[in-house]
Amino acid sequence: MKNAAQHKQNIEIRLTELWARLEKVEAALDEPADPDLEDQAIELEDDEVLESVGRAGQLEMRQLEDALKRIANGTYGDCAKCGKEISEARLEAVPYTLLCRTCANSAAS
Ligand SMILES: [Zn+2]
Repeated sequence: MKNAAQHKQNIEIRLTELWARLEKVEAALDEPADPDLEDQAIELEDDEVLESVGRAGQLEMRQLEDALKRIANGTYGDCAKCGKEISEARLEAVPYTLLCRTCANSAAS
């Protein structure tokens, strides 16, 4: 993995973005409910959307943190299934991926 430093930087930037987004989600969820009853139903729906955004963000953060661990121990970029190197382009698009394109495609079908 020759570009590990570059990928590490990409992952760290992405983690920072996710942190900022999660903080916004949490701030929005902490807002007190609107005293107007009609607006409360809408607000509940908004909260559900925000919570699912928050969950997706937390999952991605865990995956990115795992990727950082793999960079640290030198296994980053190796396909977890076939052991071949995952292409740079794929790692750039999905920095936390565990599978090469071939294995990801065969897992999906
Ligand atoms: Zn593979």
